[in-house]
Amino acid sequence: MPLQIIRGDITKLACDAIVNVANPSLLGGGGVDGAIHRAAGKELLLACEKLGGCRPGEAKITGGYRLPCQYVIHTVGPVWRGGNSGERETLTSCYREALRLAAEKGCRSVAFPLISSGSYGYPKEQALKVAEESITEFLRDSEMLVYIVVFDRDSFRISEKLFSDIASFIDDRYVEEHSFPRRKGAEERTQRQALFSKEEQEQDAADFAAAPAKESIAARPYTVGKRLDLPPSLEELLKKEDESFSQALLRKIDEKGMTDSECYKKANVDRKLFSKIRSDVHYHPSKPTAIAFAVALELSLDETKDLLMKAGFALSHSSKFDIIIEYFITNGNYNVFEINEALFAFDQVLLGV
Ligand code: ADP
Repeated sequence: MPLQIIRGDITKLACDAIVNVANPSLLGGGGVDGAIHRAAGKELLLACEKLGGCRPGEAKITGGYRLPCQYVIHTVGPVWRGGNSGERETLTSCYREALRLAAEKGCRSVAFPLISSGSYGYPKEQALKVAEESITEFLRDSEMLVYIVVFDRDSFRISEKLFSDIASFIDDRYVEEHSFPRRKGAEERTQRQALFSKEEQEQDAADFAAAPAKESIAARPYTVGKRLDLPPSLEELLKKEDESFSQALLRKIDEKGMTDSECYKKANVDRKLFSKIRSDVHYHPSKPTAIAFAVALELSLDETKDLLMKAGFALSHSSKFDIIIEYFITNGNYNVFEINEALFAFDQVLLGV
């Protein structure tokens, strides 16, 4: 998954590179800068002294010294002055320049703190948006695993409105499912049985009508568990039933007129994993990966359920994760990163794993 939001302390991450948000002198400070210098040891300060400072929006690189990462990329974020002083452009440039340096050094994984969202005062929600947009822009043409590291609960916010909309959507469905479990289950079973027997009846009638008058029952065309000479629509249906997740995914990509890379990038799934799915017809993805593809393909809720079924999964109202996915699909919001922000806010696993 090329972009992930994780909670934790950036100094503990064994990525190829972590990003430090420094002040222009690069000689240490508070916040994440202080934490990185403390953990890396005084060699980092000595290396920084040789860099000759750094302007807002630029980035410079040093080793990681006693940190578990190989490199530290130092950048200077914009100070928030109300939003009309080029803050957004400078912040975008921090991400772009840091990623450019990481790519130059051949890094495969990089972790960012939420630049400028602490003492520099950039509103956290907007800081997160800029981070996501800049990183996604970079990932359009590059393969890298990029983390946004959120230090404390307070430094991560989705909008109050979205949060409360989702919370009430979850509440409604949780209540619906948990208040009348028996009755609902019983109703569903009866409905299913009714459907099943009607189909069976129709199928039997069709078979009967199609069978030569004097043919014995034993001679009628059966294979193990499946009938031959089915009416085209049912035959089509069974073909689809036999289709694996991988086959269904590739068919849907073609039907939507997408390229493979458009699809896996939109799904936030990395190229290697996609290649595995593509080359192994029986590949079993994790549920978040399967959903990520459904979202990238902008499938309806029913289509999503069909695709999930091929991977052996279902969506249920007894899981918050599932209900949040349902919320976004029914609202026609297929932005994987926005979905992930919401999943993160509700402490759920993210898409694209
Ligand atoms: P800035 O001056 O750019 O605002 P700060 O260091 O004050 O930088 O804060 C940037 C972000 O880094 C804040 O959201 C803060 O919560 C977060 N942060 C602070 N310490 C750590 C840490 N050890 N790991 C990850 N993030 C951190």
